[in-house]
Amino acid sequence: MKLGFSPEEEAFRAEAAAWLQGELSGPFADLRGITSLTAAPDRRREWERRLGAARWGCIGWPEAYGGRNATLAEQVIFAEEYARAGAPSRLNHIGVELAGPTILAFGSDEQKARLLPPIARGEQLWCQGYSETNAGSDLANVRTRAWREGEDWVIEGQKVWTSLAQFSDWIFVVARTEPGSKGPKGLSFLLVKIDQPGVTVRPIRQITGDAEFNETFFDGARTDAANILGEPGQGWQVAMALLGFERGVSTLAQQMGFRNELDAVIRAAKANGAARDPLIRQRIAKAEIGLRLMRYGALRMLSGGGGGAVEAAALTYKIQWASWRRSLGELAIDVLGIAGEIGEGPGYGFGELSTLFLYSRADTIYGGTNQIQRNIIAERALGLPREPRGDIG
Ligand SMILES: Cc1cc2nc3c(=O)[nH]c(=O)nc-3n(C[C@H](O)[C@H](O)[C@H](O)COP(=O)(O)OP(=O)(O)OC[C@H]3O[C@@H](n4cnc5c(N)ncnc54)[C@H](O)[C@@H]3O)c2cc1C
Repeated sequence: MKLGFSPEEEAFRAEAAAWLQGELSGPFADLRGITSLTAAPDRRREWERRLGAARWGCIGWPEAYGGRNATLAEQVIFAEEYARAGAPSRLNHIGVELAGPTILAFGSDEQKARLLPPIARGEQLWCQGYSETNAGSDLANVRTRAWREGEDWVIEGQKVWTSLAQFSDWIFVVARTEPGSKGPKGLSFLLVKIDQPGVTVRPIRQITGDAEFNETFFDGARTDAANILGEPGQGWQVAMALLGFERGVSTLAQQMGFRNELDAVIRAAKANGAARDPLIRQRIAKAEIGLRLMRYGALRMLSGGGGGAVEAAALTYKIQWASWRRSLGELAIDVLGIAGEIGEGPGYGFGELSTLFLYSRADTIYGGTNQIQRNIIAERALGLPREPRGDIG
């Protein structure tokens, strides 16, 4: 097992770090440190284009589609340096980490050539149309319908919690295309342009003041027959593969961001004296241990030869990092004490650590809740009997 990076990988790290440093202390200095998903969208769109022009946008993709053929280790290194440099959160995270890999895995050559380069160039942003009011954990219960009319698919229904739809150009939609079908059968995975009369995006305002996600309505929306990934009725397989990308490899590199957050908690504890509290000290040390364990776990996954080994380990990874970060959010707010309840500015002027607390509540929900992850580990990793499924209506 190799717990570290080779000299070539370290050289790659130096190249990436130098480029990021140049951009983020130069033309994009104003974006440094932005972690909010919704802040400065126009400037972050420009940043996506800049990344694309320098071919740093989707480095794991084949060169033919705008990537660099980067190895998994190089992708992790780039993401680490990205966080270390304080680069802004990716406005096209869903296009780059979810839609793109799924198109690579399931798309025809025509679809790859048409859809991937605009993502790599930072020109087309994507969002995820999975959840509905009665289809979250039970995603197979989706009610959104689609049917063929001439050369188009026509779509009717409603999605909810669609992150960043207000900035997106495309949405991938899990829709029922076989009338009368139930559960995972009869679903299709459709790619739909947002800017059309049949699609309405309505932002949902959160307690943070942000409107990070939306309700998305499809009222006779249309997409070309060519915009289906996989075969009609096979959408479940595509949708599950995408969730594998969402829960697994794409999150391996987050730890540099976590390091920054834990360091901010430690700085605050030292500054306000909370670090003298024996229980806070215990929790800080525990957080440090958890972070190091995740780091070694990630390095082990990287040295595991890729493919199935990464996927099996990744089943446990989502629940591990999400629970760790939620605890870090709780620690942050306890370190702040009463100050954590007071806004730092007008309106929703939350500080960095209060924001960490609020956002980290979502980590154990999106991409599959902790309970759902445990079911998946029980069934797929441990071979336990499937969860009993009664008719819950
Ligand atoms: C920040 C954020 C961003 C999101 N972005 C998107 C997005 O861009 N696109 C999108 O489509 N969706 C998005 N979602 C929605 C997300 O996928 C759902 O919230 C998630 O799948 C859970 O579904 P639900 O909210 O309907 O909860 P429910 O499924 O109603 O679950 C409620 C509770 O019941 C538990 N539960 C449910 N079923 C079981 C079971 N079988 N066994 C044990 N416990 C169970 C759950 O764990 C949970 O605690 C986002 C959510 C969040 C928080």
